[in-house]
Amino acid sequence: MDGCLPCKPGCEDVFDAVMVSYAVRGMARVMWSLLPTFTDPNPLTFQLEVGSTASNDSDDWEPVGLPVVDQYMAHDPDQRVWGNTNWTHYRVRLDSASGTHYSQPTGGLGVLAKRDWLKAREIIRQRVLAYRVAHAGQEGYLLKRRWTGQKCTRCLNYQTDEPEDPGCPRCYGTGFECGYYYPVSCVYAEMSPRTYRIELDPSRGAVNSVVIRAEMVMTEVLGEEDVWVNKATDDRYYVHRVTHTAEVRGVPLVAQVEMSLIPYSSAIYGIEIPEQLEHLLGGG
Ligand SMILES: [Zn+2]
Repeated sequence: MDGCLPCKPGCEDVFDAVMVSYAVRGMARVMWSLLPTFTDPNPLTFQLEVGSTASNDSDDWEPVGLPVVDQYMAHDPDQRVWGNTNWTHYRVRLDSASGTHYSQPTGGLGVLAKRDWLKAREIIRQRVLAYRVAHAGQEGYLLKRRWTGQKCTRCLNYQTDEPEDPGCPRCYGTGFECGYYYPVSCVYAEMSPRTYRIELDPSRGAVNSVVIRAEMVMTEVLGEEDVWVNKATDDRYYVHRVTHTAEVRGVPLVAQVEMSLIPYSSAIYGIEIPEQLEHLLGGG
């Protein structure tokens, strides 16, 4: 398995990537993203499955937990067996208007061999510990922006295919229904006191904005225009640029992230962070 990733099939795949992360103690976090070419309307129902081989043709795939709707992440709270030959593999089943789709199986160690994975886990563990101790370390949530899916039925201009209302309560200016996925918890940021100013898209109501730099872990799926929410203050930031500063065999672990505070008048503050998120991970 080492260094041997399954090839992506040419046309039928709807999943862009499936990633496995163990940064939260005692739990595997499996995240996935869809290819931009996949445009089935919501609702999209995902079911995480576990099996012992890297083959979709195996008959031992079993569901883990309950299906999730319109999310891009699921948790596996079970401690899976570490075998020398039978690795835990995950895959994601998607049921949508066009039928059932499966992702390529991903090893329970993500894309890392065991030794590299242990190294990666230790790097992340030490960073999170440092964030918690340091004054600058902040706990937060990630709102992952939608780039695919059902187009906004309220504000989309059908000639330009662009959203026309940055304060739209249906798409929050993204052009896609719901705007963002269900929030991810335990996303730590160590804020740097150094800031600088940039010009922003005026359609967002912030022409001239202060950019804050932060170091963050768990950045596998962090991307431009995602939103980071400070848990303590509820301040919300747009992510502008993500530069990975620590990797293990190409898997990003730590990143320098540039963000700008979203004006408090923005509709983004209307996105609720469900309270049960606090309990879901038991404080890590
Ligand atoms: Zn809209």
